[in-house]
Amino acid sequence: MIYHPKTPQEAVNLRKEHADTAVYLAGGTDDLRLGGDAEGKDLIDITGFDFNTITEKDGKVYIGALCTLQDVAESELVPSFIREAALFCASFARRNSATVGGNLGLRRSDSYLAAALTAAEAVIKSVTPHGEREKPVGEYLQSDCLRLIEYIVVDRDRKGSVKRFGNTSASHAALIAAESEGVYALSVQGSALVYGASPDIADKAGYIDDLTGSAAYKKYLAGIVFASGR
Ligand SMILES: Cc1cc2nc3c(=O)[nH]c(=O)nc-3n(C[C@H](O)[C@H](O)[C@H](O)COP(=O)(O)OP(=O)(O)OC[C@H]3O[C@@H](n4cnc5c(N)ncnc54)[C@H](O)[C@@H]3O)c2cc1C
Repeated sequence: MIYHPKTPQEAVNLRKEHADTAVYLAGGTDDLRLGGDAEGKDLIDITGFDFNTITEKDGKVYIGALCTLQDVAESELVPSFIREAALFCASFARRNSATVGGNLGLRRSDSYLAAALTAAEAVIKSVTPHGEREKPVGEYLQSDCLRLIEYIVVDRDRKGSVKRFGNTSASHAALIAAESEGVYALSVQGSALVYGASPDIADKAGYIDDLTGSAAYKKYLAGIVFASGR
């Protein structure tokens, strides 16, 4: 079943009411694939909402959650290391459909954008059952709240860097590391996102053997990735 809410608030209320059985439908690259998180679930169509632009106001960039990864990669308003992170999605077809909100909403441990946006201290503007709320991206990713992301807000002049380690550009990343103005973030495949104000955050992550690499390999990368950039 597909719900077609008329407002973001209605969408959030539907998601709360059907927390275990419905997800938002944005670009559909995950929701509509066999074996995706949404398999067997109802969809709450958010594709018609208007948070689909990238704009700037008072030194802040507002990235609409319905913007695609390609929109982000092409926007000169977005800090360059975040544009670079959007290009970690190597498939143009997927990059051109997959949205920023969907990427964060999935909370994947190999999320293209999670580390860069967390290190950038980006903030999510969202709708909750209690109205509009803001939350830092890092905190959102470490929670399981069902709020509807409308915008990601980031400083226009934010400087930083992001690195990805994977067997190929098209395979899942073993590790993505980002640094921005003294904030460090690590996405390690199979672990929850970790971040902090010191480069010594490798010990906070968990490490498992999987197809992207051994636990020891990922731990080694996490231990040297920030030191190698200095
Ligand atoms: C072959 C393949 C490989 C992939 N590899 C990767 C990868 O390496 N790294 C990676 O990060 N992703 C990967 N993905 C997943 C996915 O394509 C992206 O993460 C994408 O950005 C999801 O965006 P979407 O708009 O298509 O989301 P959808 O499929 O529409 O939705 C996905 C989820 O996000 C939630 N959601 C959507 N919009 C919002 C919103 N505004 N607010 C809150 N929650 C929301 C929904 O509830 C839903 O559960 C892969 C997908 C495929 C098919």
